[in-house]
Order: sequence, then structure tokens, then C-alpha cells
Amino acid sequence: MIIFDEKKYAENMLKGGYLTKHKNVYELHILAKYYFQLGYSHEDVKGHLISFCTQHNEYFNKDEWYKIINTTVKSATKAKFITGKQVYITHSELEYLKQLDKLNEQKVAFVLLVLYKFYNYKKFDVSIEDIFRLSKLNLNSKTKLEILQSLTSKELVDITMGGKRWVKFADKSTSPALVIDNFEDFIFTYLKFIGEKIGECTNSNCNRLFKHTGKNHKMCSECNKEYRRKYKTEKQREYRKK
Ligand SMILES: [Zn+2]
Repeated sequence: MIIFDEKKYAENMLKGGYLTKHKNVYELHILAKYYFQLGYSHEDVKGHLISFCTQHNEYFNKDEWYKIINTTVKSATKAKFITGKQVYITHSELEYLKQLDKLNEQKVAFVLLVLYKFYNYKKFDVSIEDIFRLSKLNLNSKTKLEILQSLTSKELVDITMGGKRWVKFADKSTSPALVIDNFEDFIFTYLKFIGEKIGECTNSNCNRLFKHTGKNHKMCSECNKEYRRKYKTEKQREYRKK
């Protein structure tokens, strides 16, 4: 899994506990960095992590966890906190993508480009599952490998012996044609650029992009879900009043 914004991640943890099923220690690490960012002292951060664990770990064993918390807090003091990142896509990069005649290849190349830039032009680890999730492509494994193979043979992307990927057509200049600051649905930014019908969520403070399916489609799926949930409770309340 790729965590694009650790501030958002930590805030979601504080709302609902661990975000992974296995309650990974790296999540506590993010939480520790979050508290350091807010200016808390070493001892306070420890205290916050302990209360988080007491609340969210069913079998919180102090003997076992104090050690983990100590190491986590220590390693978090100097670690970088990743939040509010932006990635710039240039005209020359978009030209490279346009040359690909298959849209699916364009999508995958775009995703790899954004990731390469997100990681500051360092060769990076990413699972095939994540590449295609971010491309919003639902394909069988054979087709997935064919797309990656095709991009490699066209010399647009490459992979090291150790499995790290990188992009060969990245342009480090900073005059952007597109700016990516939402990393959940960034493929829509590309699809909008090439002229597909992409809407922007009308819910206040959201601005997420989504695939337009009709005139009355005005919100992203998240806000739509929330809206329908509220509508349902409202209706139930009215019904009970009668
Ligand atoms: Zn929305």
C-alpha cells in the first residue's frame, strides 16, 4: 500500500483506529510523526500512542508494547512527515503519453510517472495491484503483464533486477501542464486532460474528481454515499414523527 499523505492517514486513524487489518507498527510510526509535527514532546507522544493502543489493541500487553512504542517514537523523531505533496506533469511528458495508441497503456504509464515523481525521481517499489488500482483498470493478470511489458519494450518504463520501477520519459523541469495534489483519483486528472467526461465534486471542500455518468451526477462516490446515508436517516426521523 502507498501512503500519499501521512497527515490525512493519521487523522483517519484518530477517527477510527488502525486502517489496516493487521494493525501494523508502521501505522503507529505515522501517528508518532503526526504528534511530533504538532509540537508534542517525546513523553507526550509516547503517552498518546499508549492511549491509542489501549483503545485499539484488544490485547494490549504493556510488557510487549512499551518496547515497540519506545522504538517507534525514537525512530519517528527525525523521520520525514509526508503531507501536502504536489506532483507536476509537464507538456513533454504528456506528449510521450499521447504517442501511445492504447488508452490502457497511457493510463498505466501516467500512474508510473506520477509515482516516480512522488518519490522524487527515485526508483521505487510498487505492487502490480497498486499500479492497476490507481489506474482504475480491472484486468486479468495476463493483460496487466502485457501492458507493463509493452511499456518496457517501448523504453518508457523500466524495472531493476530488485523489482524497483522507474520512468524513462520523466521531465524534471518545473513548468507544469497538470498539477496532481489528490492522490486517490489522480488518473481522472489525466482522463479530463484527454477530454473524457470527468466531473468535479460539488460538495463543499471536496473537489474530488469522478467519472461523469449523467446530468444529475454531481458528487464523488464518497460524498454521494454520505449524502444518501444522511438522507435515509432524515427520512426515518420524519417517518417516526408521523
Ligand atoms: Zn466529494
